[in-house]
Amino acid sequence: MTSIMCDSCKKPVPDALRGETYYTLLNRDLCAACFKDLHLAVQEVMEPRRPQYSFTDYRKEFVATLNKFCK
Ligand SMILES: [Zn+2]
Repeated sequence: MTSIMCDSCKKPVPDALRGETYYTLLNRDLCAACFKDLHLAVQEVMEPRRPQYSFTDYRKEFVATLNKFCK
């Protein structure tokens, strides 16, 4: 069994199952709770820019936020 450590909260993920209890983004592993927080954080930044923002903007913000979460 593989042991997965969340790169954001640094806690081990019990019953690690990719796509269910943890998510892999740009070689970072995030537990489900941090993955949800990441999406909310990105949404909060992007929401006021609607509907003008492009996928590229979203992607850029997503990566920046992911890096912030995984210091
Ligand atoms: Zn986490």
